[in-house]
Amino acid sequence: MHMLNGSCHCGNVSIELTLTGAPEHYAPRACDCDFCTKHGASYLSDPNGSLIISVAEQEQLQTYRQGSKIADMLICCTCGDGRATW
Ligand SMILES: [Zn+2]
Repeated sequence: MHMLNGSCHCGNVSIELTLTGAPEHYAPRACDCDFCTKHGASYLSDPNGSLIISVAEQEQLQTYRQGSKIADMLICCTCGDGRATW
């Protein structure tokens, strides 16, 4: 298992991603929708991995759905950084 940590720019939203393989063995996919293009988002799948999302100040978190509405986009209202989760 390979653990990666990250956060939005201000640190309000943090993630702990656990992958079953080395990170360099994944090929993240880019989405060409307006939201993902604006936020520079890319995605990967690991059925046996895990993702933990922590939010320090819940009132500074906004969720947003677009398109097929199958994903909740998480946007930090403090720094404007956006991440997505399903
Ligand atoms: Zn933030």
